[in-house]
Amino acid sequence: MTNAPATGPTTGSQDVNLSVVDLYTIGIGPSSSHTVGPMRAGYRFCLELEARSLLAKTGSVVVDLYGSLALTGKGHATDTAVIMGLNGKRPRNIDPDDIKPTMAAIDETHKLQLYGQYPVVFNRDTNLVFHFTETLPQHPNGMRITAFDNDGVKIHSQEYFSVGGGFIVSSDDHGAEYSGDNITLPFPFSSADELMEICKREGLSIAEIMMANEQSWRNPDETIAFVDRVHEAMMNCIDRGCRTDGILPGGLNVKRRASKLYKELTEKPEAGLRDPLTVIDWVNLYALAVNEENAAGSRVVTAPTNGAAGVIPAVLRYYERFGANASQHNIREFLLTAAAIGSIYKKRASISAAEVGCQGEVGVACSMAAGALCAVMGGTPEQVENAAEIGMEHNLGLTCDPIGGLVQVPCIERNTMGAVKAINAARLALRGDGQHTVSLDKVIETMRQTGLDMQSKYKETSQGGLAVNVNVVEC
Ligand code: SF4
Repeated sequence: MTNAPATGPTTGSQDVNLSVVDLYTIGIGPSSSHTVGPMRAGYRFCLELEARSLLAKTGSVVVDLYGSLALTGKGHATDTAVIMGLNGKRPRNIDPDDIKPTMAAIDETHKLQLYGQYPVVFNRDTNLVFHFTETLPQHPNGMRITAFDNDGVKIHSQEYFSVGGGFIVSSDDHGAEYSGDNITLPFPFSSADELMEICKREGLSIAEIMMANEQSWRNPDETIAFVDRVHEAMMNCIDRGCRTDGILPGGLNVKRRASKLYKELTEKPEAGLRDPLTVIDWVNLYALAVNEENAAGSRVVTAPTNGAAGVIPAVLRYYERFGANASQHNIREFLLTAAAIGSIYKKRASISAAEVGCQGEVGVACSMAAGALCAVMGGTPEQVENAAEIGMEHNLGLTCDPIGGLVQVPCIERNTMGAVKAINAARLALRGDGQHTVSLDKVIETMRQTGLDMQSKYKETSQGGLAVNVNVVEC
């Protein structure tokens, strides 16, 4: 059994400025914390070696994985991710089709191309160690990468912590790779209360405030181009998932369902006229499609994590296809509003399942999507805050217990539930006047405390819940 402590959320920093680019990453599946983050860590280690003029002097590299990265690392492809990062690949530019042949070459030659250029010794059996019973004290998602010269003398070592959503913290900086350090924003906010106050004072929507803040980093055209790229990648992911069938990798033998459902819905469209709830089938389809693509290691948008990557695209596609007023402007408003809400969770609590369970992943995505949908359906800032609050209130206590350490069961279906719940939360809020008993800030704090009290076996370790009550037969 692991020695993992009942670690609580440690990474939220109310002082950090978060941009829309910190909430959405176009990368690969299946996990933001266990795949995207470790790949970034491997790449960042290369940059550290380069800065110290050590790349050409490195003879071999050893990777040690601890805590949740070890316990669910195989199922989340953490080993492959960090190796690809050391090979000079980054989540945003890696071609998922390159991974298999590259890993095969490494296994055959026992060499990887450090930073894509320097061949160094790397045998997966001995140079990558899963420490199943140890956790680094700083965070449940810890890893250490060490470089040795040709004589076996250690020349550089670094510890990294994957703190959720693909963010990486190292022992040296102890601050995540946010884009907003040393930036002064026109409308800084660290809580929903502050955000509501700014909306009221300035007479602006949440998306307009987010957009004004983004101008501290880049010009509006660049922000719009980024948001449009995120939207395009989300929609492409849905479309790919709808036309791809087969069995998901990993040994659970989970059959992909999206393509069959897509055929059923499109071949008999009249059935939708008899059953108005067919719209739920469509929402389910969109979420299934994204999360099956994620589980297959394909191109997805981390939103705000990979395990929960289906919720926001599903609700957004629902809005585009079934909403009365969908437009490019409103799609941008949707994504900016969701990012503003997600940033508050990141600042005040956590979006890491290893810290707070699935409430911090699917729960946060549901909350972001609920608020965003409410906004584009004409909700006031107060109604948007209410929708986001409802979206989390009914995900409180949600544990993370992926069977076989794979982001498949319960993860894929859970995104369908998160998406449908988000739509209902938006509708509930729109029927009210924005006044409500539980504020978004209170529910975020409750989520944080609940995560703190949650036993580590329910926090992405696959040592509790469904992960131990359902037998896995490896094939
Ligand atoms: S149970 Fe939730 S948090 Fe855990 S891996 Fe699955 S989607 Fe992610």
